Amino acid sequence: MLLRFIAPIFFSFIFQESTDLEGLNTKKADQEAQFVWGFYAHRLINKTAVFLLPQEMLGFYKGNIRYLEENAVNPDARRYLIEGEAPRHYIDLDLYKEEAHGKIPTFWKDAVEKYTEDSLHNHGIVPWHIYNMSFWLTKAFEENDPEKILRYSAEIGHYIADANVPLHTTSNYNGQLTGQKGIHGLWESRLVELYSNGFDLYFEDAEYHENLQELAWSAVRNANAALDSVFSFESLATEKIGEDKKYNFEERNSITVKAYSQKFCKQYAELLDGMVERRLRASIKMVADVWFTCWVNAGQPDLENLSSYKVSEEVAEQGKKERHSGKAKPLVKSRSHEVIE
Ligand SMILES: [Zn+2]
Repeated sequence: MLLRFIAPIFFSFIFQESTDLEGLNTKKADQEAQFVWGFYAHRLINKTAVFLLPQEMLGFYKGNIRYLEENAVNPDARRYLIEGEAPRHYIDLDLYKEEAHGKIPTFWKDAVEKYTEDSLHNHGIVPWHIYNMSFWLTKAFEENDPEKILRYSAEIGHYIADANVPLHTTSNYNGQLTGQKGIHGLWESRLVELYSNGFDLYFEDAEYHENLQELAWSAVRNANAALDSVFSFESLATEKIGEDKKYNFEERNSITVKAYSQKFCKQYAELLDGMVERRLRASIKMVADVWFTCWVNAGQPDLENLSSYKVSEEVAEQGKKERHSGKAKPLVKSRSHEVIE
């Protein structure tokens, strides 16, 4: 299997600021978002996945890498705008008594029969939504529709990344039930922000998967298996560092915010022993695998004819609007992952 050691390429430009496409205000909003909402990881995952693709797909995806990166975060913005969006981002496996024995029906139809659609939505639907979206993406390839291919690629990348995060697989998603409020942002934003620059990322080429529904389930189950460590090591790190040194106050964009101290983060990261990095790598690989599988399932359409395609200004503008309207004017109440207490 061919391994590619390409991490330095990414991390050298990951910290570059957005420049031409979007205006100054947007640039500031994006920077704020990166540090507060875990957006940084979503963008990194989509961007990096592009380079795992085979030659036949690479030109088209690389030519639109900016769009894939920027629109990786749109589904999160939509959680505050559209009823029914939020459950697509998680699944509370702990609320299913059978989960320990792996008895939740793999496919949506069987699950609806067993639990009803309402209760599935109440507990989150991420593995089924990924599978569903894979059909949209496959169809977009069949239709040779570059706009849809890019939109669905960017968005399925988001849901895949969520499915690989342990805290997206439990009802205790922000440690609110165990006195660990804030752990969501700590794990998926703060640690990534502090340490991803030193992550040793290497990649294999994208691979075909016979059964994408099974793949989505194995992602959430692998993520869920790590949950015990996510919580117990947070407690242990707190014990070792002491409550009084766990947080400090930092200046961000001229606002003073309470944040986990670097000392605490370092201790927690050491205890996790590379877990964030492993989940990040799993996400990147799975995004590339799913893009590739959908393309193969569509009959490997020639993307050469799209290699000079660039997203129109109108489409780029639409994406940008969606990204920035969700948080600014929330219409729907959604889970808050960001609160520290
Ligand atoms: Zn999400």
